[in-house]
Amino acid sequence: MTESELQKKFAKIPSRLKGLEILSGNLWWSWHPEARMLFKNLDRQLWKESRHNPVKMLGEVSAEMLEKAAVNPDYLRHYDLVMSKFRRYNEERRCLFMSGGPNPNVKSVAYFSAEYGLHHSLPFYAGGLGFLAGDFLKECSDLNLPLVAVGFMYPKGYVRQHIRTDGWQDSMEAPLDRDAATISRVYGENGNQVVVQVPLMDPPLFLTAWQIKIGRITLYLLDTDIEQNDPWSRGISSHLYAGDREQRLRQEIVLGIGGSKLLETLGIVHFVTHLNEGHPAFALLERLLLRMEEGSSFEEAVKKVRQSSVFTTHTPVPAGHDVFSFELIEKYLAPYWKAFGITREQFFSLGLHPEEPEAGFNMTAFALRLCDHRNGVSRRHGEVARRMWHCLWPELPEDEVPIDYVTNGVHVPFWVEPKLGMLFNRYLGPNWMNEQDDPVLWELVEDIPDEELWRNHHWMKLKLIHFIREKTRRRWTREFSGNYCPIAFGALLDPTVLTLGFARRFATYKRADLLLQDIERLKKLVNDRWHPIQVIFAGKAHPADEPGKKILQKIYKLCCDPELAGRVAFVEDYDEQLGQYMVHGVDVWLNNPIPPLEASGTSGMKAALNGVPQLSVADGWWLEGYNGSNGWIFGEREISGNRDAADAAELYDLLEKEIIPCYYDAPKRGIPSRWVRIMKNTIKAAGAQFTARRMVKDYIKRYYAKALDGHLRARKAPEK
Ligand SMILES: *Cc1c(COP(=O)(O)O)cnc(C)c1O
Repeated sequence: MTESELQKKFAKIPSRLKGLEILSGNLWWSWHPEARMLFKNLDRQLWKESRHNPVKMLGEVSAEMLEKAAVNPDYLRHYDLVMSKFRRYNEERRCLFMSGGPNPNVKSVAYFSAEYGLHHSLPFYAGGLGFLAGDFLKECSDLNLPLVAVGFMYPKGYVRQHIRTDGWQDSMEAPLDRDAATISRVYGENGNQVVVQVPLMDPPLFLTAWQIKIGRITLYLLDTDIEQNDPWSRGISSHLYAGDREQRLRQEIVLGIGGSKLLETLGIVHFVTHLNEGHPAFALLERLLLRMEEGSSFEEAVKKVRQSSVFTTHTPVPAGHDVFSFELIEKYLAPYWKAFGITREQFFSLGLHPEEPEAGFNMTAFALRLCDHRNGVSRRHGEVARRMWHCLWPELPEDEVPIDYVTNGVHVPFWVEPKLGMLFNRYLGPNWMNEQDDPVLWELVEDIPDEELWRNHHWMKLKLIHFIREKTRRRWTREFSGNYCPIAFGALLDPTVLTLGFARRFATYKRADLLLQDIERLKKLVNDRWHPIQVIFAGKAHPADEPGKKILQKIYKLCCDPELAGRVAFVEDYDEQLGQYMVHGVDVWLNNPIPPLEASGTSGMKAALNGVPQLSVADGWWLEGYNGSNGWIFGEREISGNRDAADAAELYDLLEKEIIPCYYDAPKRGIPSRWVRIMKNTIKAAGAQFTARRMVKDYIKRYYAKALDGHLRARKAPEK
């Protein structure tokens, strides 16, 4: 859509409600329920059909509806209140920690990530890494940190999941409608959408950019799908994580090098570079060049870049670490070693894995070598990362390997269900959101009457089950063939039954099928006459992950089995929206990856903030999060034989002996007070420790402040 078309699209908005257009263009609405209500109240049906996407909805809503709202005093009062809150939010000049100064183009930090999970209408994510980045930006906005972010606009999104009647996952493309999303074009000096040439690439490679306003933060999204590029290059940004090695390398070149060039073109200056995982690490090459252009030798440049760069590693799973063949690196990056005045071998050595020197150029090793500030994402993951990368610092004892940790956290306003948020308003005080990093505040959860907390939870559970049944009904009415089994998709879910939730990517290490280890035992649990359980599964396998798809199919087939009584369900197409319903509405959050492969995990934190306790193996954040009274832990013992069988046995034991009896023990007017106690402990522990606010402040204290200092010591003027 051109600018004038866009103007036409919004021309129907009465001048009294013009703010709706501005509001829809800033993702602020995604973590302010009162702002979303403004859109919902215009036209509930359309709101639902747009899948809660204000931009899409405003494009489709009728002029009559808008005019009606513009003369409705109740609507206008609500509108004025929200707009005033939005204005105050954006006008806030107080900056909590570090000031970029009065110039809005001077930023303390540039944050680079290959994916961002912000909202389901923006399909730029695959999983946890993306949501971590998305929550990080929302929190940086709330804290008013002068930060700019860079990522990719993937016009073809990730994948939509369609489960065939034989349980096999079809991965379908769901192209992004650029004009029905909270994104806008970035214009250059000539008034056209900005076009940047990626430096030193031959044949030439160009990118354009889009932006997302996330409160006070701008995220720039790179897009190579422009006519200046040949078809192969146009496709660089089409999908998240290209499968083809060369295309993947080109993606990472565009992200790191092109992204840096974009910031420079836009006149945005930054001091600290933060790499979220290794994918954007080539950004460091551009930083080195800049230092050298200012007169540093290569060695000096390396020192300066190190001092001002932060690298967060996110996973011990090998597939999470990109390694590129030396041929490919030579093909694309040779101009850099020439510019640095170093040899090919010297350049390769920057990305060498000392234990696998033949394997190629390792992006994680490269980032670890060129950033002085390095961290894993939980205490345990810090240990695991130090062991994994001891080979880079062989002269040091393992526990002195310079990789620290910052435990992940989740953005509270985005993940706490709004009605529960209102309960917090009442009992934690109307300012609880602003005081969320005072652990004492969370003690006030004790003041919430058991009955209110329980009823609210039950209401969230009803919403989840209603959502699943409606989804199933829609598909059933679309394809009512004899083969389609609505029961497998959750048609028989029962809100009175103890409900376990398992929603995550179907990567094999997450062991989605652990609970199916002993089918007979599971059958007993779901068929118990008085105290049954039910299980809701959701999650996508990566399109190329055959073993993941097989596990999914196995689970789906079981969901169809009458002996499981319709109490095990698989819900299609896991995304942020389904994720919200799940973390709000199940009774127990199940997490059973193979330790120590889950670096942190964050979905359990989202559930916990909503009063949903976690049943988890001893891994990731749970080793810090579990306190003996806020859920359950298993798999702590060293196991010599079959780990899956041993873990599953412990899991069934916990369910049978502790969890089920506790849940159904409801002597007082139907309120399971022992259970509600666990719910309260769950909220308290999560609120006090696992918020994005605590996380961002940790990054500031431990890294950004030092990196900024390192930068200032190394040079006097801000860099270009
Ligand atoms: C939080 C979240 C994730 C990450 O969850 P893990 O616990 O790390 O597996 C993945 N997908 C969605 C939609 C999420 O909201």
